[in-house]
Formats: sequence, C-alpha cells, structure tokens
Amino acid sequence: MNHFPIFLALENRRVLVAGGGDAAVAKLRLLLKTTARITVVAEDADPVIEGWAAEGRLTLIRRAQDPGDALCCVIAYAAHEDAAQDARTLRLAAADGALVNIVDNLEASQFITPAIVDRDPVVVAIGTEGAAPVLARRIKSDLEARLPSSLGLLARIGKTFRKAAEVLPMGAARRNFWSDFYTQTGPRAAPQGDAAVRDALDDLLAEHLRAEDRPGHVDLVGAGPGDPELLTLKARKALDRADVVIHDRLVAPEILELARREATIIEAGKEGFGPSVTQEEINATMVAHGLKGAHVVRLKGGDPTIFGRLDEEIEALNEAGLSWSVVPGITAASASVASIGQSLTKRGRNGSVRFLTGHDMKGFADQEWAALAKPGEVAAIYMGKKAARWMQGRLMMHGAAPATPFTIVENAARPGQRTIAATLANLPEALADVTGPALLLHGLAPRAAAEAVTSERLADVL
Ligand code: SAH
Repeated sequence: MNHFPIFLALENRRVLVAGGGDAAVAKLRLLLKTTARITVVAEDADPVIEGWAAEGRLTLIRRAQDPGDALCCVIAYAAHEDAAQDARTLRLAAADGALVNIVDNLEASQFITPAIVDRDPVVVAIGTEGAAPVLARRIKSDLEARLPSSLGLLARIGKTFRKAAEVLPMGAARRNFWSDFYTQTGPRAAPQGDAAVRDALDDLLAEHLRAEDRPGHVDLVGAGPGDPELLTLKARKALDRADVVIHDRLVAPEILELARREATIIEAGKEGFGPSVTQEEINATMVAHGLKGAHVVRLKGGDPTIFGRLDEEIEALNEAGLSWSVVPGITAASASVASIGQSLTKRGRNGSVRFLTGHDMKGFADQEWAALAKPGEVAAIYMGKKAARWMQGRLMMHGAAPATPFTIVENAARPGQRTIAATLANLPEALADVTGPALLLHGLAPRAAAEAVTSERLADVL
C-alpha cells in the first residue's frame, strides 16, 4: 500500500484549488460537499465557479497563484490541466505548507482523492492507486446500488440517539439494537421522514429494553427418530413453551404440531449430504431470536449429541451470552435396533458398540476398519448410504467375512419403516432402492428373521 487512506477533518480549514477549468469544477463539486473554506485562484474561471463565488460558497481570486495563497491550507489542488502551471502550483503550495494533488497526475501528487460513495456521514472511499480506475468505478456503482439512499439520514439520526441507546447493556444487546435499526426499522421508517425515524427509534429501544428484562433461552432438544411417542416429556414441555422452533428437515410434522400454537416455526433444512441452510445461518437465527428474549427450541432429529453439530451451536450461544440446555432424545440407532428386536451390546458377543458416520464434511469418513472387521463387532452407521460401497471395500480389505450380517433400517419409527436383512457381500445392492433416512446396523441380523428360520425348520420337523 503506497497510499494510506485517511479521512481529513476539514471543518474551518482552508483548501486551495488553482485553476478554473473543467478539472477544477469537477474537484470543487466534491469539495463543496465538505465544510472546508475553499479558495479558488484562477485568471480565468468557469461560469459555474463564478456562480458558486456569487453564492458565497467559495472565495474566488481572479489572478495567477502567488506565493502565500496556500498559507494555512491543509491541501491544495493543481487543476490547470497544464503541466507547467501545475508544477508551479506544486512548488508554491508545498512551500506554503499544503499537501498538493495534481489532478490526473498520480506520480507527481502528494496525495490522491479516492472515488467515493456518499451517504454522509457514511462515506466509502475506494482507491486502486491508479492501477484500475475501471474497477474503482465498478465497485463504486455496485456500492451505490447496494447502500440504501436513506443510509445517510439513518446514520445522522442514529448518531444523535447514541447516548439514549446507552441504557442497553454494552455488547450484544446494544449491537443487536443498532443492527435492527439499520437493517429493518430504520429503512422502513425513512420514507416518512425524520420524525418517523425518531419515533421508530424510540419504539425500538422500548422493545429492546423489554426483551432485556426477559432474557432468551435456547433448548437444544432431541426430537427422536420420528414417532411422537418417542419424544421425552422434557421435549414436549419445551415445545409447549416455545416462542420459536428451529427444526431439522428430518423432524416429523406430527412432532411440530406439538409446538405452542403461537410459536414461529422455522425449518433449517439440512439435506442428507451437506447442509442447504448453512450451520452459520442456523446459529445466527438461533442467536437472533434468543437475544430478542424468545424461548427458542432448537429441535434436532434423534439425539442432539449424535452427529448433530451440537457443539458448534453451543459455542455460538455461549458467544452471544445466551443460556441453553440440552434435552436428550432417542437416537436412530436405538430405534433401529429396537425394531429388529436386537440389542446393541450382548454378553459374550460385543462389550462395546460404535456409533459412526459414513460421511463427514470432507467426504467418506475414515474409521477403524481393522477393528470393525473382527467377528462379533457391532456398529450403528449413520449417513452410510452413499459410502456403502466404499465401506464394504475397506472392511473386506481388513479381512471381514463377506457373510457379516448387516441390517438396514429405513425410516426407523417413522411411517414407511422398512427392514432389509443384508450381508457385507451384498450391502450396496441391498441399499439400491432405499430413499428415506436409513441406519446400517453392522454385525446384527434381525432377530425375527433368525427366529422365523428356526420356527420354519421346527415346522418341517413336526
Ligand atoms: N442426531 C441424529 C442423527 C443425525 S445424522 C440421531 O441421533 O438419530 C442423520 C442420519 O441419521 C441419517 O442420515 C440416517 O442415517 C440417520 N437417521 C436419522 N433418523 C433416522 C430414522 N428415523 N431412521 C433411520 N435412520 C435415521
């Protein structure tokens, strides 16, 4: 960075413009937006400049620049559009102690004027050090379109309200108030003028003060696998109190119906692979409602502590200073294993069980395949559909028996529940027409199937 951007205080300071043609007019248009005392020195001034002088907006000296003209000036512009005259201005004004800009001559200038987007007192300055004026213009017009024209008005009124807003505690509460003002309340009131904006500010402050008295709270609640009867009593109570429910796509509509009738229901629709609403957006929604004093229920499929990105949400709540609690739920593995009449651990078979994911943020998830490949191992595999063929390869490579039982439970404890008995050898094929959420139980066959075989044999014998 060869040029350091600064905002120069110009109130009651002098600025000199030497020259009276088009370049001078263009610079003066910008300078006249400021509170500086402007002097133009020009033998021959454009009628526009004469007009400004007549209106008393600037002082016009109708002669060539003399030594001392730039005394007490902070900055001076050489705007003759003539190299020799501009060089003279640079010499004289610099000797008087001013910083000098030669219009359209970056190399010889002591400072340069950026492109600006003016929403006074909000001013955006754009500079490219002369490298890409076209880019600067593009950025300027993008910003012109993006920043509402009322922004200046809002900022001016907002500034006069800063003291009043100090009744809100510093930090998130105050930030939240101003963000509401600049993004919502302010732009809505702006078309009705100053008085409407001031009234809106008063109302908004009262609303935020009320919210302060009633600190928000977020319950991170497990919704279970789908069947409303598998909700905990705590989950039901939380839904009953909720002002806002933010739920995953997997949460069944029957469960959402248990929420308080006045509650705002927001879907944070995550797809099976990769979120369609980003985690950051979910965190921000939760925090925004919590800070407004709402009782928020963040409703997550199954148990919130299993593959639910719970920690990221808790961190966001902590950062915002919001209180929270976790209400556990029945995880898909529990519902799935229940549906096939097996248990996740069994004396003499497996003393431990793994909960693993076939997929993580980076793609297929690596796991301890060698340990899993041993006989008798049991694992509940979440998000395993797409990774099935890959997992099959890994397990085989580590010596797992092709006949290792696998049970696929699709829509466990939901309408359309389906159980598919498979083996490691045919796992990908067995998953071919599975479209709902599915859990893969590695190392377990449905008890019913096993028993049915036994009773058939028995019938044969009888
Ligand atoms: N926190 C959830 C898991 C979220 S990860 C829980 O504890 O259950 C999402 C994965 O969970 C899905 O891809 C699927 O593998 C599994 N899943 C969730 N609900 C399910 C259901 N009703 N039946 C089968 N699998 C389910």
